[in-house]
Amino acid sequence: MAASPGEAGVAVFNEQPLAPLTTWKIGGPARRLAAPRDVEEACRLLAYAHRRGQPVFFLGAGSNVLIDDKGLPGLTLHLAGSLKKLERQGDVLRAGAGLPLPRLAGAAARWGLKGFEFLAGIPGTVGGAVRLNAGAHGRHLGQLLKRMWVLTPRLQLLEFSAAELEFGYRTSRLLDFPHWLVVEAEFALEEEAPPEQIRARMRELMAARRARQPRNPRSCGSVFKNPPGGPPAGHLIEQAGFKGRRCGDAQVSRKHANFILNVGRASAAEVKTLIREIQEEVWRRFGITLEREVVFLPEDLGYPA
Ligand SMILES: Cc1cc2nc3c(=O)[nH]c(=O)nc-3n(C[C@H](O)[C@H](O)[C@H](O)COP(=O)(O)OP(=O)(O)OC[C@H]3O[C@@H](n4cnc5c(N)ncnc54)[C@H](O)[C@@H]3O)c2cc1C
Repeated sequence: MAASPGEAGVAVFNEQPLAPLTTWKIGGPARRLAAPRDVEEACRLLAYAHRRGQPVFFLGAGSNVLIDDKGLPGLTLHLAGSLKKLERQGDVLRAGAGLPLPRLAGAAARWGLKGFEFLAGIPGTVGGAVRLNAGAHGRHLGQLLKRMWVLTPRLQLLEFSAAELEFGYRTSRLLDFPHWLVVEAEFALEEEAPPEQIRARMRELMAARRARQPRNPRSCGSVFKNPPGGPPAGHLIEQAGFKGRRCGDAQVSRKHANFILNVGRASAAEVKTLIREIQEEVWRRFGITLEREVVFLPEDLGYPA
């Protein structure tokens, strides 16, 4: 159902299912959905939403979001299919926000550039990963980033250095500005090494991941952040007796308790119930508050679910 390609100059679709665009395969439809092909189209879409007073949501690979069963109001920009540029310019790599992290890792390996291997198993896009400072195996994206560009709702293109973004464990200053669209990022190159050596390291990290994580791909990865200085969240959840616990078709993984799986037709409400029960029980038993890593849309952006 294509709506007005006219007004924004870009096809905007009404009532589009969002569940297929997430790794959890959960959530209701977008009131309006568009996939900008470049920054100029993103600008036009933001202006369109601004004129109509509509909220705007961004979706990358949908690998760290729980979309409410009622879906999202306003306009959702789906970025995973676009803004995929990747180029090497001297001693930096420039990547578009929609580029999948495994592709970034693969290209760096091909060019013989070390340091990007840990990204191979993270199923997100550059934009989502910069915002949340994705990381694994003791490394995080903020360590590679040199600078990046965002588009604000007033259509200003702003540039920030990595230092200005104050990256921390799964956090960056961008979390304070959820209405800024990450459009491009520039990464500094570390050491060079033979591509085969880099690929061997990637295979090693992927094998470690497969050994630890559930096979069912319908998850969001880790639901909770690891509490600072304490045992990992998965350990606390396991100790609280939640391994294998179900609410409808949402189930805490038996292999890794920080993963909640969609084992059928789970709803967002079922996942939220499990999340709340885990938080309550872990706090009651250990006095530790588990902070969510996964983003709830639309609630976390201040809109009612
Ligand atoms: C099996 C599995 C394993 C995982 N392993 C890891 C891991 O090892 N380490 C790790 O850190 N994460 C991991 N994750 C979580 C996830 O892949 C990362 O958080 C990833 O960075 C999310 O990127 P995304 O494009 O999917 O973002 P989305 O889930 O689409 O969005 C996440 C948030 O970022 C916002 N956003 C998305 N794109 C943009 C943009 N261009 N500009 C501004 N905001 C944007 C969204 O609005 C939302 O608030 C895993 C997930 C799965 C399913």
